[in-house]
Amino acid sequence: MQALTIHSAKDLRLEQAEAGNPGAGQVRIAMAAGGICGSDLHYYNHGGFGTVRLREPMVLGHEVAGFAEAVGPGVSMVEEGDLIAINPSRPCGHCVYCNKCQFNHCLNMRFYGSAMPFPHIQGAFRERLLVDQSQCEIVASGVSPGEAAMAEPLSVCLHAMRQAGHVANARVLITGCGPIGALCILAARQAGAAEIVVSDLTDQALEFATRMGADKTLNVSLGPDVLAPFTADKGYFDVCIEASGSDKALQSALAAVRPHGTIVQLGLGGDMSVPMNLLVAKEIQLVGSFRFHEEFSQAVKLISSQTVDVKPLISATLPLADAVEAFELANDRSRAMKVQLAF
Ligand code: ZN
Repeated sequence: MQALTIHSAKDLRLEQAEAGNPGAGQVRIAMAAGGICGSDLHYYNHGGFGTVRLREPMVLGHEVAGFAEAVGPGVSMVEEGDLIAINPSRPCGHCVYCNKCQFNHCLNMRFYGSAMPFPHIQGAFRERLLVDQSQCEIVASGVSPGEAAMAEPLSVCLHAMRQAGHVANARVLITGCGPIGALCILAARQAGAAEIVVSDLTDQALEFATRMGADKTLNVSLGPDVLAPFTADKGYFDVCIEASGSDKALQSALAAVRPHGTIVQLGLGGDMSVPMNLLVAKEIQLVGSFRFHEEFSQAVKLISSQTVDVKPLISATLPLADAVEAFELANDRSRAMKVQLAF
């Protein structure tokens, strides 16, 4: 069987790997779909991000779903043939943060396809993958593997809503409408937002935001006047989900969020310049949001019950053999929202 391995920037290879047999409590998955995420693209384009660098070959991928092919001894929750959304979050369960149920902060996290630790944590873009039973969320029949693979990015957005704290009946601004911003529209709607306004730099992204249910869109490339109606009287929004990682977007959020509002920084932008006087004077809460844990099963339930429809986000599905083409397509925001691999 084959695995999709990154050696350095732009050096992506399909390599032979062992499928292995499931041990106690394990399930062997015949992979079906895998979504290309921003972090996969960073490894592909630049060999890493920030201070995180590839120091050895690493299998990419963490947004995956496939079919249970073989189950090991003691597996009771999964049967052969089940479609499984695989939770890529693998905390150790016994460190200081796991003991506080803050699993996304685990000191020994083995999140698939991450070059943060060394040796790197190998990823899930493999034709076969051994997983623990506890990582398996069974997906309802009638749901495609591609939709099931969207549970991972949806979980990121559900966690961001939790970090926002009070989304029900709130006026919500989402800055940036890539795949995560677009899924945040669905997550905010699900959380009961009263109004959802989305900003981006391109009309194309904003047309997509409208399709995903945004009430209003703002093209901020047209200049600061676009935001003026929302900055009067100390601001309009109760919550902002900053999904672009741009400090300009964060600055506009600080101007457009009303006193006592909350900004969730979800996009990763490295060092950002923040006008702290606005944050202080309006008593705004600025909180981070990183990955997820228990939100994964919630995401699978929302997709399984078709409460949340992620299908419009999947802009293309390419065979594993065309992985380089798929990564290049995912790089082009004018052509692609979420690109998936078919295994
Ligand atoms: Zn831990």
